[in-house]
Amino acid sequence: MIKKLTQLLIVLFIFGFSGEVLAQKKPVWKNRNKKKKTETPAPKPKPKKGAIQPYHKVVTKDAKTDEGLFKVHQIDDKFLYEIPDSLLEREMLMVTRIAKTASGIGFGGGKANTKVLRWQKKGKKIVLRVVSHQVVAADSLPVHEAVVNSNFEPVLYTFPIKAFNKDTTATVIDVTELFTKDVKALGLPQNRRKQYKVTRLEANKSFIESVKSYPLNIEARHVKTYASGAPPSNASTGTISVEMSNSMILLPEKPMKRRYFDERVGWFARGQVDYGDEAQKSKTIRFLDRWRLEVKDEDIEKFKRGELVEPKKPIVYYIDRATPKKWRQYIKKGIEDWQVAFEEAGFKNAIIAKDPPSIEEDPDWSPEDVRYSVVRYLASPIPNAMGPHVSDPRSGEILESDINWYHNVMTLLRNWFFVQTAAINPDAQSTEFKDEVMGRLIRFVSAHEVGHTLGLPHNMGSSVAYPVDSLRSATFTQKYGTAPSIMDYARFNYVAQPGDDGVALMPNIGIYDKHAIRWGYRPILDAETAEDEKKTLNKWITDHADDPMYRFGHQQVFSVVDP
Ligand SMILES: [Zn+2]
Repeated sequence: MIKKLTQLLIVLFIFGFSGEVLAQKKPVWKNRNKKKKTETPAPKPKPKKGAIQPYHKVVTKDAKTDEGLFKVHQIDDKFLYEIPDSLLEREMLMVTRIAKTASGIGFGGGKANTKVLRWQKKGKKIVLRVVSHQVVAADSLPVHEAVVNSNFEPVLYTFPIKAFNKDTTATVIDVTELFTKDVKALGLPQNRRKQYKVTRLEANKSFIESVKSYPLNIEARHVKTYASGAPPSNASTGTISVEMSNSMILLPEKPMKRRYFDERVGWFARGQVDYGDEAQKSKTIRFLDRWRLEVKDEDIEKFKRGELVEPKKPIVYYIDRATPKKWRQYIKKGIEDWQVAFEEAGFKNAIIAKDPPSIEEDPDWSPEDVRYSVVRYLASPIPNAMGPHVSDPRSGEILESDINWYHNVMTLLRNWFFVQTAAINPDAQSTEFKDEVMGRLIRFVSAHEVGHTLGLPHNMGSSVAYPVDSLRSATFTQKYGTAPSIMDYARFNYVAQPGDDGVALMPNIGIYDKHAIRWGYRPILDAETAEDEKKTLNKWITDHADDPMYRFGHQQVFSVVDP
């Protein structure tokens, strides 16, 4: 028995007890060898397993602390969250993305999963729950209780409380396992698991890369390696590795007022099942994803008189520090081109482009900080640009948006502009364009991508509004551009012929774009609820019912019908 124990102990020593522990324990062990065999060792009085300890014993001197939404303490490869009481029960949005992958899985950055979470204190534990906003009923209605019961919030994880801070206004927990174990909601999405025949997590090949805290969000990155029956690349390893990113964003205490979706105006919208309606069946209500643009209290009278006012908080886009200097001004112009559309909604300077502070000015500034929306410049061979956004599932409020700008978008622009306009356009009659020419094209793409982040999808029904011969007219195209919407795939003017001097070659923010922004963003001050807004919103659409320039035609993906 003893011999076995000794062997076990030696094994334990090899696998990680520190030399100091070894030195202390040795003599005790020797002494006991001489005693009766049945006697058990008397262990030093240790705190009971799971007992709450003094703060300094948990957050030791070795801890590296990152201040932010929660304090994040790192001790070696262990991560602790210090959650202030004021943030318990608050709703937080968790956005999970595949940040990096091996080739064959598609490029990183795509959203894998979005969940609303809530941290709760239950006795000696902190419980992390998943909140559902898919099903609702107003809390004044009797059906509310049934909805609450059927919406029982599942538990994502529980954490024993390790310590409290000095004045017991914050609770310390160890969250390492949340990111190192196979918590499905935070890891590789289910469809990918199926596709690559994932059987389990390989814990010894999985680790936390970083956990960073910002004032309104916490960003965790962790590498996950899964055993896979059909890996997309490096098949001989029998595994697939991905770097996951989890953004946890504090949701506003008071959700923004919703605006209901109407299929006659194109908009990125979200759905929710409402059981509170008078109708005999539940119905799905849909509301817009949009920025929170509000009139300042002191400007309400001005706004009512029809004067333009500055919003409480404008939409600000920062240009990534990695963007080549000569292109920055054009990307900025594409962003601020939307100001004319917001003027239709009653706001001036509603959307602004800025340079980020330099590293010397603000070393903590980061595009990962949810307070900053950034046009990111990515050195990648992908010829594309993307404008995704993150929004509050309760209200549709857009919280942040980062536009990904891939360097090779310029190749795409050069090819299009050359093929579609070179016959009449001296600027496009070479394989390399002058900077002003490429700059104008960059501005066009920048405006289109920003349009997506404001809530607008493609309007494929826009370009049919113009008679073909109007596209050869300089006066018409200078006034209206080449399509009523920059959100169409109208691209460049390939209808114009040699001799059509002065004709415009591309769309600007057009009549439809201004209409859509007005419809989605103009505050309706006398409406208490989203329901109250319906009449006005309907009128704004029917006012232009017979004008094809105001028409929306959604992008057809499956079963395409030629209009
Ligand atoms: Zn697009």
